[in-house]
Amino acid sequence: MIYKRSSALFAEAEKVIPGGVNSPVRAFKGVGGTPIFVKEAKGAYLFDEDGNKLIDYINSWGPMILGHAHEPVVNAVIEKAKKGTSFGAPTEIETQIAELAVSMVPNVDKIRFVNSGTEACMSAVRLARGVTGKDKIIKFAGCYHGHSDSFLIQAGSGASTFGTPNSPGVTPGTAKDTLLARYNDIDNVKQLIEANPNEVACIIIEPVAGNMGCVPPKEGFLQGLRSLCDTHNILLIFDEVMTGFRLAKGGAQELFGIKADIVCFGKVIGGGLPVGAFAARNEIMNHLAPLGPVYQAGTLSGNPLAMAAGLAMLSELNNDAKIFERLANKTEYLHKGIANVLNKNKITHTINRVGSMISVHFAKEQVVDFDTSAKGNNDTFKSFFHGMLNEGVYIAPSAFETWFIADALTYEDLDFTINAANKVAKRL
Ligand SMILES: *Cc1c(COP(=O)(O)O)cnc(C)c1O
Repeated sequence: MIYKRSSALFAEAEKVIPGGVNSPVRAFKGVGGTPIFVKEAKGAYLFDEDGNKLIDYINSWGPMILGHAHEPVVNAVIEKAKKGTSFGAPTEIETQIAELAVSMVPNVDKIRFVNSGTEACMSAVRLARGVTGKDKIIKFAGCYHGHSDSFLIQAGSGASTFGTPNSPGVTPGTAKDTLLARYNDIDNVKQLIEANPNEVACIIIEPVAGNMGCVPPKEGFLQGLRSLCDTHNILLIFDEVMTGFRLAKGGAQELFGIKADIVCFGKVIGGGLPVGAFAARNEIMNHLAPLGPVYQAGTLSGNPLAMAAGLAMLSELNNDAKIFERLANKTEYLHKGIANVLNKNKITHTINRVGSMISVHFAKEQVVDFDTSAKGNNDTFKSFFHGMLNEGVYIAPSAFETWFIADALTYEDLDFTINAANKVAKRL
């Protein structure tokens, strides 16, 4: 495939935007080459500026769970836009989407809308600290919770791709309040809590990790966190920015039957517009301003266009009883197909999958945490990525990212992808 115009556009962008991109992973640094500039997208496909058609497994890193330019979502945005795009005053649609979200998600009474997943996680931690009166947080190596200071400690995906696990600009004062644990290692968490008695406000976790590839929680791990939190008066925060409204209507809480104290959302909840949210039971949410003393605000929070897109998206998911089963079936089909061609071509690999999240690791061992994920062969991944791209299949440009399956993908698209993987595997 030819990427002449994309390369030229990238060169222009680099002059006025740091690295030519507004979010680092887009720059293809993890795989080499220059990023593809998207002209438009429809359903399962991206169309780039050179006229190439690509099957999309990134789906805007999660939001486009039904496919691109999904009509009910697009129409809702167009209709809203005609009536004004921002007021900074309450609107009815904010209550409508809040009611729907609260009805879909277990164990929450109230939800506050923000503009990104980063904001949701950052606000959730402030709320946890405000409620418990404690300072420290526990996060897991390889988990990403957005780019706010306290989370940029071994933060997975973007940060790991660039070999800067801890960002300059995060002060030692902030870093000291973030305790780092190993994913899927409950004893490690227990030790951290015991070493910091009465200091830990919350444990924040991706209940299925998606930013070190897809890493499922081991049997009993989330339950173990729940019990530790109950014993030590610690709030359990599920960062469901990736898993929320994707793994089930009620996200990972529903899938695993575990109740978190605060749940963070982003990605799918905005239907492709910039939306995040955090939710909890009344006794926690009532600490937020203006009801309580924990401050949190936003000029564009609950923006009508964003709420229209989010409400249309959640309604579609809520009204389709089979959607999550359909997505899981497609993902399983892809998993089996790719495993089959990699086995046939004797390529060492391990594939992780939960629902519509899947990642292919060129690693011998099971991938259960950040260290085992980092052992994957990155040279093989790079060749696989560029090979697939050349065949017209766009997967995430980093071995630390999950692929997202959209409902718009047909079994023909999946077969095309498996075929492409077979061709590429022969050359690996
Ligand atoms: C994407 C992501 C975030 C950050 O969301 P942004 O909207 O990019 O700020 C936080 N947590 C998880 C689990 C994510 O996948």
